[in-house]
Amino acid sequence: MSEQTFIVRNPATLEKIAELPVAQAADVALAVSRGREAQRAWQQTSFTERARLLYRLRDLLLDEGEKLADVLTAETGRPRAEVYGNELFYLCDAIGSWAKKSARYLRPEKIRPHFPLLKTKKVVSLYAPRGVIGIISPWNFPLTMTLGEAIPALMAGNAVVLKPSELTPLSALFGAEMAAKAGFPENLLQVVVGFGETGEALIDSADMIAFTGSVETGKRVMHRAAERLIPVSLELGGKDPMIVLKDANLDRAAGACVWGALMNCGQICTSIERVYVEAPVYELFVDRIVARVRALRQGPSKDEVDVGCMTSEAQLQKVAAQVDAAIAAGAKALVGGRRNSGLQGHYYEPTVLVDVNHAMSIMSEETFGPVIPIVKVKDAAEALRLANDSRYGLSGSIFSRNQAAAWRLAEGLQSGSVCINDSLVSFIVTDAPMSGCKESGFGQRHGAEGIRRFCQQKTVVSDRFGLKEEFPWYPASQKKTRQIRHLLMLLSHSGWRHKLRAFQGLIRS
Ligand code: NAD
Repeated sequence: MSEQTFIVRNPATLEKIAELPVAQAADVALAVSRGREAQRAWQQTSFTERARLLYRLRDLLLDEGEKLADVLTAETGRPRAEVYGNELFYLCDAIGSWAKKSARYLRPEKIRPHFPLLKTKKVVSLYAPRGVIGIISPWNFPLTMTLGEAIPALMAGNAVVLKPSELTPLSALFGAEMAAKAGFPENLLQVVVGFGETGEALIDSADMIAFTGSVETGKRVMHRAAERLIPVSLELGGKDPMIVLKDANLDRAAGACVWGALMNCGQICTSIERVYVEAPVYELFVDRIVARVRALRQGPSKDEVDVGCMTSEAQLQKVAAQVDAAIAAGAKALVGGRRNSGLQGHYYEPTVLVDVNHAMSIMSEETFGPVIPIVKVKDAAEALRLANDSRYGLSGSIFSRNQAAAWRLAEGLQSGSVCINDSLVSFIVTDAPMSGCKESGFGQRHGAEGIRRFCQQKTVVSDRFGLKEEFPWYPASQKKTRQIRHLLMLLSHSGWRHKLRAFQGLIRS
């Protein structure tokens, strides 16, 4: 292990909470080769055995919930309620869902060949584990994005090496410790900690990379993975729009908006980052948002608070720069718009902005902070046009009492998922596919594809009859070629005269 270390700080208090050695390239390569060894035996285990260990892990996570909450709140500055309300909530359901459904998702699939002559073959498509999956994670959900991502990879029969964010490595280490305690074999789930270089070393040795993080890093990851031609899944950033139509239930829409935009201090890939409201209800909606945001309590996790802090000073500065630039260009902050200087850590006040437009970075770039920019639109068509005017396409929300209108908009929205009359919830339906489009990447989290991506799909074609020879085998002859041509005409041509001629030709030959 290297001499180089890095310090983990509590972003709410700025206290040092840990100092860890950075995993160097050789450490990562060693972890992967140990993982490969462990995986050989693991892939022989049944789904039932894997599920049994997962259930034990779930019980341990619940039993040790308070310890986990201490670790997670210390490295993120999030309110304690969020540890139970989303990280543990998500994990418990994800474990149950993968434990129950993986065998079905990965069941060998019998294929019925289309070509009549191939019906003499038995064709089966299998899902085989890829080997060692490298998981590279961001800091915003330090357990969901590490252990949560590892669960389907393990259920598929792989080993996993996790590279958590350098800002929040402790929850992943805690999760791996719980997995070992639950009885997962040694080296099956390992954690390597460090910066981008540690992630790069993982790309250089793992059999697949599941990356979650920013668009910019995602592009670098894909580039490096291309050198070894290993598969990658990329779950990247978002700039999720919310559309409020004039017939919406405004109270529900406002509640969902404030929760969807500010939970985890806005540091969620599927946070609501921009809101388009039909003109007739614009003022009413904005008033409701302002009242709700003003009522929020912000502070350290030990107090009863709604909103915590940003996980890093760099992220806070990025948010502040976008808000300041918007205000300089004519936007107005109805609430917030500045650092919360009454608190010691990286606190930025929950902010409501109006008079914003798409020339401002606050409307075009991912903010990843506690900001709700609101735009008045003429009608649903304008809302949809603006919502799609983005390089991102992760998720979005639509509010209307008219289900048909909302579903039409949902179909038109360029995004991997959509919530109707709700927010954020699409992420926690672990049985439904969750992915992005455009620059939000092409990962497939959850549902059947969420586990199949960790598998090598293998087709086995088996001869049923055991004849001595197959017709197209050597030696070639003019007669054989003629017969094949007649056969193709007979089976594939759409004109019956051609078919008849081919049939006669076959009889003659
Ligand atoms: P980031 O891209 O800065 O870092 C992500 C991870 O990549 C970290 O572990 C980091 O150490 C590592 N890394 C950095 N450089 C690397 C390199 N060259 N090679 C390999 N690994 C490298 O992202 P972040 O700031 O930690 O996370 C925030 C981003 O994550 C936001 O854009 C957010 O939208 C996105 N995110 C997306 C989803 C999703 O499901 N689509 C979920 C959560 C977060």
